[in-house]
Amino acid sequence: MKTKPLVRYNINAQKRSGYFAQILTSDVLEDICFKATGCREFKIETMSESYNKGRLVTIEYNDVLYYVTLSEDKVDGRNSSVQSVPSALNLFYADDRTKKKLCYYFIPYTGNYFTEYHKFIFRLLKTVGVQFLNLPSDCSAIYPYSNINEIMSAREATQSQNKSNNSSYITKFGSRIQIFGKTFGASKYESTLMALAAASIVKGKVDFFNVAENGLEILPESSRITLGKFKNIELHSATQTLDKNVSESQSETVPLRNGSYLYNLLGKFGRKKCCMCSCGISEIIQGAHIWEVSSISKTTLSFKEKFKHVNSEDNGLWLCQNHHKLFDSNIIILLKNGQLCVRQDIGHENELFVQSITPNTQVEDRYLTKATVEYIGKRNMQISLDEYRSIEDYL
Ligand SMILES: [Zn+2]
Repeated sequence: MKTKPLVRYNINAQKRSGYFAQILTSDVLEDICFKATGCREFKIETMSESYNKGRLVTIEYNDVLYYVTLSEDKVDGRNSSVQSVPSALNLFYADDRTKKKLCYYFIPYTGNYFTEYHKFIFRLLKTVGVQFLNLPSDCSAIYPYSNINEIMSAREATQSQNKSNNSSYITKFGSRIQIFGKTFGASKYESTLMALAAASIVKGKVDFFNVAENGLEILPESSRITLGKFKNIELHSATQTLDKNVSESQSETVPLRNGSYLYNLLGKFGRKKCCMCSCGISEIIQGAHIWEVSSISKTTLSFKEKFKHVNSEDNGLWLCQNHHKLFDSNIIILLKNGQLCVRQDIGHENELFVQSITPNTQVEDRYLTKATVEYIGKRNMQISLDEYRSIEDYL
């Protein structure tokens, strides 16, 4: 006689004891078991110590362990309704069995699960290999992302008006994918999930920058273990602001340049686009300092002050590699009013060339915050402006 599937779950939710015993009616359990294994009869084992992390039901059948993570029964708010998913992912990846499957199941719910944001999260899950056991009637199929550009566009489309929701970003540089995410709050889950999805569809490396607000916070261990299972993900830490308690001697271990500069630029400008030629090919676009790191380093400012200037989003522009080199070598300069100028001693032909690859004679106003104008002033102090001609003059 064949053995029946063994269905196991903890009946307690974090804040409501007995919650899962209530929502997992015999009909719901039968449906979950049938959709996962094809069997309608099963054995049940419940637990009640501690609580159900990851809203999980596990089913053991024919040597396969199914991790089924359940939707919420009430959808309210952007992040809260998918917050348990990463715990389920972490428990799933921490399990060393080879025959295992991660599934998602919609229990009856109220509210709207199919906002742009939820669809984004569901498609990321699908990309990672999560199997959706059922779909609510108001939802069309959930497709995996097939390339990074799709994930980047979807991430952009879900950027919220609420800035606190915008704390994870995905971009590319060279042959690598870069993910920036805060180490706390809901965004740490979102960025972890983006990293897993990216690592599932690209062959190259995925750099994952943990952006810590204060001091040296890092991702929870369970998430780091999960990311570690993907050999093409490299973890980096990035400190956004220096902890009040970091002394000058300790600060030697914190580099002036770190991933939080790019994180801050992505937060201020969004997707990479060269401000001089509007090129949007992320792979060749860099964050370019206005007040140079080398000049900041030479000042007598404290390490903390230097760190602030080096990593400030106001001290930066998106530039393609051509324009970055032209800017760094002061062949093109930026005036406080946003005008772009070319050095005249490079020869007429070269001036014409620079003009031809620089269709924007002026950077957009959104670049010119008060702080940015101050940085332009600091940079241009060492420049003789009379050696330059406005790019506009060539038109
Ligand atoms: Zn450019």
